[in-house]
Amino acid sequence: MLSKLLIRGATILTMEGPDAIIETGEILMEDGWITHVGLPGSAPGYFDMDEVIEADGEVAMPGFVNCHTHAAMTLLRGYADDMSLMPWLSEKIWPFEDRLTGEDVYWGTMLACLEMIKSGTTCFGDMYFFMDHVARAVEKSGIRAVLARGMVGVAPTGAAALTESEELVKNWNGKADGRITAMLGPHAPYTCPPDYLGKVMDLAAKLKVGVHIHVAETRTEYDDMLKQYGKTPVQHLDSLGLFKLPVLAAHCVHLDQEDMEILAQKAMGIAYNPQSNMKLASGIAPMAKLLDLGATVGIGTDGTSSNNNLDMLEELRAGSYLQKVGTMNPEVLPAYRTLQMATIDGALCMGLGDRVGLIKEGMRGDIILVDIKQPHMCPQHNLVANLAYAANCGDVRTVIIDGKLVMLDGAVLTMDEEKVMAEAQERAMRLAGK
Ligand SMILES: [Zn+2]
Repeated sequence: MLSKLLIRGATILTMEGPDAIIETGEILMEDGWITHVGLPGSAPGYFDMDEVIEADGEVAMPGFVNCHTHAAMTLLRGYADDMSLMPWLSEKIWPFEDRLTGEDVYWGTMLACLEMIKSGTTCFGDMYFFMDHVARAVEKSGIRAVLARGMVGVAPTGAAALTESEELVKNWNGKADGRITAMLGPHAPYTCPPDYLGKVMDLAAKLKVGVHIHVAETRTEYDDMLKQYGKTPVQHLDSLGLFKLPVLAAHCVHLDQEDMEILAQKAMGIAYNPQSNMKLASGIAPMAKLLDLGATVGIGTDGTSSNNNLDMLEELRAGSYLQKVGTMNPEVLPAYRTLQMATIDGALCMGLGDRVGLIKEGMRGDIILVDIKQPHMCPQHNLVANLAYAANCGDVRTVIIDGKLVMLDGAVLTMDEEKVMAEAQERAMRLAGK
């Protein structure tokens, strides 16, 4: 028998265009698929629903897609701040990460999933290690994820990481009722030499999966690559043939004109991480220009030690404002365009654009309900501007992922919130040696 879930009474922002708003409408989901979007009373089989959600005073919109993070780094939130990237990594982050066990990564990811669900994120792109444990947390929490085992070619674990990546794809791609997709995750061009990247590319082609990689995050990386290979990071990767594969390139802060054209034409997507780039003083990524060139750009929070939260509403707003001030042009990244980046474009960046990111018949039901009866959402001149520029994560009240109710009126149904926070707290203290 089909499981049928109906949302009624909501204002629906379908994300199929700035004016594609149904003032009072209903959305029917059957076995996870959105099968009907329309006016009140128009859904078929009105009286045999398994679940009906009354959503008066709420906006239904696609859940946010966080297309670049390292979820289990929640355990490092507030552990090391206000430092330069290299000493931050080598003195604080990497030694802490060396002490992580698989079980730590599970609870760190559970905390991340809890935080993401509560703030309206329904899908995230992850790059980390102990990925079996990450996948377990994704399965349990009910969220959707695109998982990559981070691979550092220059590390002693480089060869094992290739094997583990292959296992991740074989064991988890398409699992958790189809909510998990796998990619390969070579960390960056400066940590993965050409011969290693060659192996990654062969494996990706063999397994028919995409590649998630950090690219041109810092000025130092850009200058070092020029010195070492006589090419920019993007042109170096292009010369190796990486962009023949579906590539999600994270950061892309330091680019020349040719780099931007290569990314716009050849990358599956770019993950814009504005708050991480600001906090680590990496620079302002030229996203307004990349969008002009036709690039697909999604938004990511990056890990919570360089952000320090996973709040996509905050991230998309910061991303829009940073582009405005960076270009000295308030017209770039307008509200609707930025919401697109945080939903459908993020899905496209990870190869899921045919499945999530819109409220539309034929898509999977990844939908959030946002309370608009709040002082900071009043008056209602412009729903889209209120969502992009005034809403905060606490306004997200209900979350549906893959047609299943995961949070109802602020209460997460798939996890014991107290237990997740207590485990994360205890493990984080142990790891920090406290
Ligand atoms: Zn990252």
